[in-house]
Amino acid sequence: MLAVARSGRYILGPNVDHFELDLARFVGVSHSVGVGSGTDALYLALAGIQLEHGSEVVTSPFTFIAAAEALHRVGARVVFADIDLLDFSLSVDATDAAVTARTVGILPVHLFGSPCDIQNILAIAESRDLFVLEDAAQALGARWNGKRIGSFGVAGAASFFPSKPLGGMGDGGAVLTNSSELAKRVRSLRVHGARSMYVYDRFGTNSRLDELQAALLQVKLPQIDKYAISRRRIAAIFGNALAGNEWIRPLGGRPYGESVYSAYTVSVPRGRDELANHLRARRISTAVYYPKPLHLQPVFASLGYRVGSLPNAERASATTLSIPIFAGMPDQWINRVIEGLLTWRPPTRGG
Ligand SMILES: *Cc1c(COP(=O)(O)O)cnc(C)c1O
Repeated sequence: MLAVARSGRYILGPNVDHFELDLARFVGVSHSVGVGSGTDALYLALAGIQLEHGSEVVTSPFTFIAAAEALHRVGARVVFADIDLLDFSLSVDATDAAVTARTVGILPVHLFGSPCDIQNILAIAESRDLFVLEDAAQALGARWNGKRIGSFGVAGAASFFPSKPLGGMGDGGAVLTNSSELAKRVRSLRVHGARSMYVYDRFGTNSRLDELQAALLQVKLPQIDKYAISRRRIAAIFGNALAGNEWIRPLGGRPYGESVYSAYTVSVPRGRDELANHLRARRISTAVYYPKPLHLQPVFASLGYRVGSLPNAERASATTLSIPIFAGMPDQWINRVIEGLLTWRPPTRGG
């Protein structure tokens, strides 16, 4: 850190170069390009893919807004397909059904640290000649059949927002890709579309990773598997405690998927908000990711979705609750959360 301060190089320097190489090796891709945020990683990857205006991309309605927003920003038409209630990521059948003659790509999101059914999403993409861009913001380090998330599609987007699996001390992100062509375009787009100093091939933006973040992230990167193992252990304890619970159900995983549990999310078919209150009274904080699905957000009103259009996403918004999980969580805290969960009963109907 001090070395960075003394060097006088604060944006895109040797630390960023090193970190980009380490990250690419970690994920198992040929290139990683450090950018200003996960949101920008999605946007710049899409800008680098060069979609025609109005072409359709299928994505999830139950996630953080960044992916759909990036699609809008590059002029694509956002098509929301419903989610699978097993893992709350894009449903393969719904994705398949949402593809039309105008579809050019699929943008799946690996939610809560858990890999979506990427193999079957890829199969759809290959059979219809579509690109796949993975939103890996919540799932860096997760694996599908041994292969890291973010290495499956034409590109993956990583975020280094502090609460993500590889968190920095500020904003940051990266585009992951095996395409040297795409990596080159993103490298240019992050510096205003420049080919060389003050020669511009295209319009870009200012979105770069800084040296202090890169120096920190480089030190943290080799640790993230260890943190994920710790969270997986805690998730297994929660899962065992909730086995057979009628009222609170842990989200399911897929046979080939290895989650990094950036969140531990349960589904509460009846009384989700009451459970949150019950836990708050025991000083256990919870979060609702995400209380309103994207297809019902005012900003996407022009797309014409209605209540009932995507029932699984709507159900997920009404019933999921994320409970505390972090690497090295003391047993005492784990037990307190479990005690809170097991002492709860849903409100009885009708009074
Ligand atoms: C956090 C997040 C992003 C955006 O990352 P930022 O670095 O905050 O811009 C995108 N997609 C998902 C699913 C996220 O959780």
